[in-house]
This record gives sequence, structure tokens and C-alpha cells, in this order.
Amino acid sequence: MQGVFIKAARDLVIEDIPAVAVGARDVAIAVTRAGICGSDLHYFLHGGFGAIRLREPLILGHEIAGVVTEAGREVSGVAVGTRVAVNPTTPCGHCKYCREGLRRHCLEVRFLGSAMRFPHVQGGFREVLTTRAENIFPLAPDLTFEEAAMAEPLAVCLHACARAGSLLGKRVLVTGSGPIGALCVLVARHAGALEIVATDVNPFALGFAARMGAHETIDTSDAGALDRFTSEKGHFDVLIEASGNEKAIRQGLECVRPCGVFVQVGLGGDISVPLSTLVSREIEIRGTFRFDAEFKMAVDILNSGALDLKPLHTHTFPHRSVMEAFEKAADKSSSMKVQLSFA
Ligand SMILES: [Zn+2]
Ligand SMILES: [Zn+2]
Repeated sequence: MQGVFIKAARDLVIEDIPAVAVGARDVAIAVTRAGICGSDLHYFLHGGFGAIRLREPLILGHEIAGVVTEAGREVSGVAVGTRVAVNPTTPCGHCKYCREGLRRHCLEVRFLGSAMRFPHVQGGFREVLTTRAENIFPLAPDLTFEEAAMAEPLAVCLHACARAGSLLGKRVLVTGSGPIGALCVLVARHAGALEIVATDVNPFALGFAARMGAHETIDTSDAGALDRFTSEKGHFDVLIEASGNEKAIRQGLECVRPCGVFVQVGLGGDISVPLSTLVSREIEIRGTFRFDAEFKMAVDILNSGALDLKPLHTHTFPHRSVMEAFEKAADKSSSMKVQLSFA
């Protein structure tokens, strides 16, 4: 079988890899769709992010949907042929955070396609992925693999919005309208937000935020684009920051009301924030990291048809065209969610 390795920035290679033995509690999944995430793009464009660097060839990919081809002997209730989404996170279950119920902060977590640990955890851009049976979630018959492979970013956004607290009746500003920002718009809308304004400097992305339910989209290429929200100490109860861009954070914070909440989605890097605004307006800054129970929630929501993610999927490339796929995913003016197909 083949897998897509990254060896260094812009150095993607397809190589034959040996099949991984299916343990007693494992399942083998024929990968049908695998999404390219912002973090995969960081490896592609920069060889990593922050202190996390590629130290050996890594199979990227953690937004995976496919079909069960084999189940271990202790796995019950999973038939060969079951269509599934794969939760890419495997917490250890016994470290101090796992025991406290904070599994997303597991000290020994294994996350597919990540260089955080060494040896790196090899990911899902491969024809067959072997994973623990508890990491798979069956799909409703009419849910497409394209949507199912977006369960992971949806789970990220469900957790991010949960970190903001109840959004019912709230005014919400979402800065950054890539796939994560657009999904946060969708979740906030579903959670009963009164007003959702989405920003970006890219008109193509803003169109998706509008389709996902933003009441207003604003191109912040114009310096004064948010000025009307900054008077009288701000307008929004909640800022969901999904750009990681310092300028967007500064602009966004000026629009947050006293005692508002600022949720930073994504790592962002070493960015300076205007502490005086945070302090004088008593704004609460909250991080959000991955997800835990929200993965199952994401698949349940997709299976129910309550949220429609289909418009976010813009491109699928066969895995042999992986370079083309990554170049397209990096081109924010013409793509949102780009996926690889392995079938
Ligand atoms: Zn992702
Ligand atoms: Zn743990």
C-alpha cells in the first residue's frame, strides 16, 4: 500500500509502506477521503510550526473517513464494510490529566500525523489505516465521505464554541474565515447567536462564512472596516479568533465589550496582544485545544443532517496528485477544504 510522506517543507513523496498488523482491539480502514488541515499545510509550507519540527519522514493527515476492511478478534459489533469517520486522537487513559477527565491534555496523547512526539505519530494519508476500534464512528447511509472527513474540524469548532460559553442571544465576531472560522460561524449560528460577523482579508473565504450563516461579512483589508464596532467600548460579547494573525487579533479585541470573552482557536505563535484592552475591559481570554467528546458529537450532528458542511468542500485530488492538492489548499483565494482520495 502507499502512503504520502512529508520529508521537509514542500517535499512530499508517495512511498510503499508495509501493512500494519491489525491487533485484537484494532480495525483496518480503507481510507476513502482525507482532508488537508491547516496544520498539514504548516508542515508543507514551513516544515512544522513553532517548536514542532519534522525530525523524520511523516505521513500527514488526521481528517479521515473510510471503510472497515478488517476487525481484530476482540472487536465486536463492527462489520467489514462499515463506513466510518476516524477520531485521530488516542489519549493514554492513565496519565494525571486523563484521570481527571481532561483527556485532550493527555501527556502521552497520540494524534495522527503529528510531529509533536518522537518518533512521530504516522497519520492517515495512506491507503489503509489501522486504528483502535474505539476511534471509529459509523456514518449514516446518506452521509458522504467528504462530509464525514470534516468531522474532525467540526469537533475542533464545537469545542471552541463550548469554550466561549453559551452563545444564545450573543453577538459574536469571528476573525478569520478559513474552514475553521467558517465552521465556527456555523456552530455559533446553530447555538443561537443573535448576531454573527465574520472577517477576513480574502473575499473568497468571506463568501463561505456568509453561506455558513454569518449575518455580515467584512473585508478587513480596509483599515477602518471595523470602526463602527469600536465606539462605546466595543460591540461583541464573544470574539472567536481563527486567523492567528496579530493584526486581526488587535482589530478584533477593540470590538469586544467589557466582560466579553476572547477565544483563541489555533496556536497562533508568539503574538503580542494589547493587554491594556484586555485588562481595562475585563475581557477573558480563553484557549481551546482540539476536542474530546466533541468528535462523537460531530459525527452525530453530521449523521442527523442538522448541519450541512457540504459547501465547504471545494476540491478532491487523487493521492497521486498530492503536490497539486497541497498547492491548491495553500491557495486561499480559490479553495476551502481540499481532500485527498485514496480509493
Ligand atoms: Zn484538522
Ligand atoms: Zn493520558
